[in-house]
Amino acid sequence: MASTVRGVVARAKGAPVTLEEIVVPDPGPGEAVVGVKACGVCHTDLHYREGGINDEFPFLLGHEAAGIVEAVGPGVTSVAPGDFVVLNWRAVCGECRACRRGRPWYCFATHNATQKMTLSDGTPLSPALGIGAFAEKTLVAAGQCTKVDPHAKPEAVGLLGCGVMAGLGSAMFTGAVGLGDSVAVFGCGGVGCAAIAGARLAGATTIIAIDLDARKLELARQFGATHVVDASVTDPVAAVQGLTDGNGADVCIEAVGNPKVMEQAFYARDLAGTLVQVGVPTPEMRIDLPMIDFFGRGGALKPSWYGDCLPDRDFPKLVDLYLAGRLDLDLFVSETIALDEVEKAFDRMQRGEVLRSVVVLG
Ligand SMILES: [Zn+2]
Ligand SMILES: [Zn+2]
Repeated sequence: MASTVRGVVARAKGAPVTLEEIVVPDPGPGEAVVGVKACGVCHTDLHYREGGINDEFPFLLGHEAAGIVEAVGPGVTSVAPGDFVVLNWRAVCGECRACRRGRPWYCFATHNATQKMTLSDGTPLSPALGIGAFAEKTLVAAGQCTKVDPHAKPEAVGLLGCGVMAGLGSAMFTGAVGLGDSVAVFGCGGVGCAAIAGARLAGATTIIAIDLDARKLELARQFGATHVVDASVTDPVAAVQGLTDGNGADVCIEAVGNPKVMEQAFYARDLAGTLVQVGVPTPEMRIDLPMIDFFGRGGALKPSWYGDCLPDRDFPKLVDLYLAGRLDLDLFVSETIALDEVEKAFDRMQRGEVLRSVVVLG
């Protein structure tokens, strides 16, 4: 029988989110119902509320979550009731042109639940990133559930479901940071700090954190930055060059989503260096670079979606590293909040006061 639970809904563009009764159907073929334990508040949830993703209101927000599988539909063998899982928005299809070419992290046909969750009057909900986890229960495709070690704290490992994985992967996978590399990370919010942690895990020896906010630079040090640059008082390009024998960094990661910052990251690279852009831009942003500099400096310019991760490959290993004390996911959790405090958490996020507010349930 379908369940009625509480969920955080964005009903109209720009309107404050509200706590609503939502109806979660029983799982159909290939689907699972997950009891949500924790879900982080991500900028993308705010983008949905502001109509920046699409106009398919009402949205059921929340997508960085961990929980317990409560029920699975016919044919599901990858997870079972009772499993502790981190939810993901890259349940790869195995059949699209990217998957067939052996690049499933680019999958163009990722799986979501087929059935719709609804408001109590039957209005269908659009779940954020196909998840919708600011709710006591959510319905997802079984492939969106990645089983991990149940000893881990849900409020910490749920963050692997989006922002933290995007940052870790921007360094480890998209940037392919290697042993002894120098890395500069522009922007030290949740994603940028995760990029710093990823660069450290990958063996970078020089990790330069750049931000305008001294509080964030202090956090960046805790995640593994070897040097910090306050871009409100220092030219970051000159600073990165000064810290790398005048050369620039092997890998520069833009974690803001800002054309000026992207230009700084472009010029802070060593010759043949890699620029990774993981900060999400808005549609009106433009970049204007001399083509001769693009050509003449060589290297690579790479966008990073979700850190080029493969959840089933990466989440369990990263949770094991967390449990072994080698990846501090707890440090991303600035505060834990209740389901009815998401709107206030958006304000704190916009003021730059938190890496992550995390909703904790039950
Ligand atoms: Zn695919
Ligand atoms: Zn997100």
